[in-house]
Amino acid sequence: MSKSGFGVSTIPSTGLTTLTQAQLNAWAVQAKAQTQGSQLPDYIPLLAQANSTWFAVEIRGINGQMLSAGDITLSFPLMSVVKPFVLLFLLEQSGAQAVFAFVGMEPSDEPFNSLTQLEADQGWPRNPMINSGAIALANRLPGSDARSRCETLRQWLNQRSNCHLFLDEAMLKSVRSLPNERNRAIANRLAESGYVDSMETALDTYNHVCCLSGTVADLSSLGLLLVQNYKAILPENRRLVNSLMTTCGLYQASSRFAVQVGVPTKSGVSGAMLSVVPSQGAIACYSPALDEAGNSKAGLFLLRQLAQALELSVFG
Ligand code: GLU
Repeated sequence: MSKSGFGVSTIPSTGLTTLTQAQLNAWAVQAKAQTQGSQLPDYIPLLAQANSTWFAVEIRGINGQMLSAGDITLSFPLMSVVKPFVLLFLLEQSGAQAVFAFVGMEPSDEPFNSLTQLEADQGWPRNPMINSGAIALANRLPGSDARSRCETLRQWLNQRSNCHLFLDEAMLKSVRSLPNERNRAIANRLAESGYVDSMETALDTYNHVCCLSGTVADLSSLGLLLVQNYKAILPENRRLVNSLMTTCGLYQASSRFAVQVGVPTKSGVSGAMLSVVPSQGAIACYSPALDEAGNSKAGLFLLRQLAQALELSVFG
């Protein structure tokens, strides 16, 4: 694996493989500056204890190239970045027809934990990237309790992507330390509409998988599962996950971002962010300072720079 940079070959003038370490370093400095004066989410106490100026990025290409910058030793919970991987796991295990019997494919303009959206849809979870859809899918993971379901997912992901995700027990305790009435009401509504059988187990599984944690190296390895022709994942499943990340991955900012940047991306309230550049590589970012929609400020900034300069948009 080369650590010397992506810019060895001079033939293509755009694309992820043309990125140099010097370019990445320069954008990383600018990205970190975006975190000044930011707030952290306070509904999970441990997330509020993060340092809002933390920033790390790692980029992996399909041919083993790797570039990184920032505090790459930091580990963090995936939170909502786990959602595409719960979906991917279930698609691989049971196929699209079975999975989309329990969750939709439509984007939502409401926040990620909106009960209003779920009510408006008569209890039908709109998509797997928002809490209602992810709680419904957590309920489909195999296993009798939250811990064993989370462990099955963790092992599958670690084996497939050669990463080292672990369950952050302290984070899980912190998630459970304050009542999350919104998620509870969502799970309850899903149970009423029949998309969840045991609301407690579904919610507990969702909380567990959100606390799967790792570094940007783990996240970029994980991201390669979604990069075309790289790993043993069915192409149609990869396409489904990448499309849903494009249309639903950044909460209510998804469609604007798809138009302006055009790279399948999923963010989480921890400040984790993963972008997939099909056929090229994966970009993993961690920076806990969030914007109003709940997306990492520095992560979005960096991705905009990369996408623009390297012409990464999937729309050509
Ligand atoms: N566990 C978090 C929640 O449900 C995850 C949300 C997110 O990362 O968007 O509030």
